[in-house]
Amino acid sequence: EISSSHFYLTSKYIRRILKPRSKFDHKGTYGHALLIAGSYGKIGAAVLSGRALLHAGVGLLTLHIPQCGYSIVQTSLIEAMVDVDAHEHFLTTLPSLDKYTTVGVGPGLGQDALTIKAFGKLLEDFRKPMVIDADGLNILSANRELLRTVSPGSILTPHPKEFERLVGKWSDDFDRLEKQKALAKQLKSVVVLKGAYTSIASPDGMVYFNSTGNPGMATGGTGDVLTGILTGLLAQGYSSVDAAVTGVYLHGLAGDLAAREKGMISLIASDVIDFLPAAFKKAM
Ligand code: AMP
Ligand code: MG
Repeated sequence: EISSSHFYLTSKYIRRILKPRSKFDHKGTYGHALLIAGSYGKIGAAVLSGRALLHAGVGLLTLHIPQCGYSIVQTSLIEAMVDVDAHEHFLTTLPSLDKYTTVGVGPGLGQDALTIKAFGKLLEDFRKPMVIDADGLNILSANRELLRTVSPGSILTPHPKEFERLVGKWSDDFDRLEKQKALAKQLKSVVVLKGAYTSIASPDGMVYFNSTGNPGMATGGTGDVLTGILTGLLAQGYSSVDAAVTGVYLHGLAGDLAAREKGMISLIASDVIDFLPAAFKKAM
């Protein structure tokens, strides 16, 4: 604890949140996540995010991807189901949303006009908390009328550049923190500002600072991995704030364990996923 509204995330704090499994649990207990990600040339983002989502403990996973990603995703994520878009190269349609516990949207999506339209419809139709990342955030920044339709309790995960597109330039770290808190309040959602000390702002004014992670994670795809972890935790019934703080902590811890073995220079996003099981075991 730093002040009454600012917390530094510790292993003890995370251990209190993580729920062990019970003998008679079944896959229905852990939710069915829908991951909407990928476009031509960026199907890897969907795979990274989906693989992380599976290792985060989700019950069932369906990916909604453009046609060009079908074989790639089906062969690289054999545990997942695939729902294919009407378009070859990017997202233009949505599956029926009723059966999904939560949605993760954004990694590798692109910003075609038809994608923006489908994203707008997703926000309108799916009224439960979801994770919005990457081009999902960029679409929100460029189409500000959509901000009103963000489901309360969602988790937004901008890196500094995406955050600047959302809130404009900041003068210093304090101003940046105020802008982060204001956005969380405005959207009634959790805003995760990613970086060396990722900060997590809740709609009720609390801010959590992460203690895990390393500069080896400054490489393409690690953010997509975080999106998968957060979506997986939401699907399992964790509250938005609990999912955000736990997911950010575990993502960094997996990165630290990966760096210990592989070194920071060689570390890639897939390594973070590979060390996610060890991170869960250590954190429980
Ligand atoms: P993205 O930019 O969307 O790919 O996200 C990058 C991810 O890597 C975020 O979760 C960051 O918190 C993490 N990351 C990047 N650089 C660092 C760093 N220097 N220290 C710790 N984590 C980092
Ligand atoms: Mg990213």
